Amino acid sequence: MDIYLLFGPPGSGKGSLGKLLPKGSHLSIGSLLREQNIDCSNGKLVSDEYINSLVLKYLKQNSQKEFLVLDGYPRTESQAIFLKKYFQDRIKTFIHLSCSDEEVIDRVCFRETCNCGCSYHPRLKPSKRVGICDACGSMLKKRSDDTKEIIQERLSVYKKEKNKILRHFQDKYVDVSVERDFKESLKKIAQFILSGNENYIKDIRNFPIGRDQIKQFGRE
Ligand SMILES: [Zn+2]
Repeated sequence: MDIYLLFGPPGSGKGSLGKLLPKGSHLSIGSLLREQNIDCSNGKLVSDEYINSLVLKYLKQNSQKEFLVLDGYPRTESQAIFLKKYFQDRIKTFIHLSCSDEEVIDRVCFRETCNCGCSYHPRLKPSKRVGICDACGSMLKKRSDDTKEIIQERLSVYKKEKNKILRHFQDKYVDVSVERDFKESLKKIAQFILSGNENYIKDIRNFPIGRDQIKQFGRE
């Protein structure tokens, strides 16, 4: 199994990207935790040991899959070290979705979600009928953790860990901008994952980011 790691701030499109991939090939750790009624809505993190064991179990059970996209994992340095210990050779690409803070806050504060996993935004991805899910017809709602205060807290946790995690995946790292042409960028990333052909993401990369720059990044 090839493993792709999807890393980016809340609202950067990780879930929307998952919708463009074949069913079962995208694992969102956040959804997995919500399914188990684990509350991470205060922006804090669940223990590394617990998440590591959850992911390890899932990867072992699904080892026959051709590829898997991990969304929201690793989220701490210790998770990154754990993943590398067990799956170093399987990790294909570390995809970093980059987006400014202002854009992240706007996306999350105006996001509407459905129980079926779809999410909408009035500017980026409006539903056809106001307040109703296109896919299943259910009423849309706002997640209780999609507030400006919580998103700012989540962003600061995210940034604190980001550079530490990044250092562990320097040789697999690809930085992709999802600030503009949001939908088009996600489509290109999906095509890249499905085909393994890097040409799809060449023009939306924030390159060149060489090893030296990443090292510098890590020292900040
Ligand atoms: Zn729905």
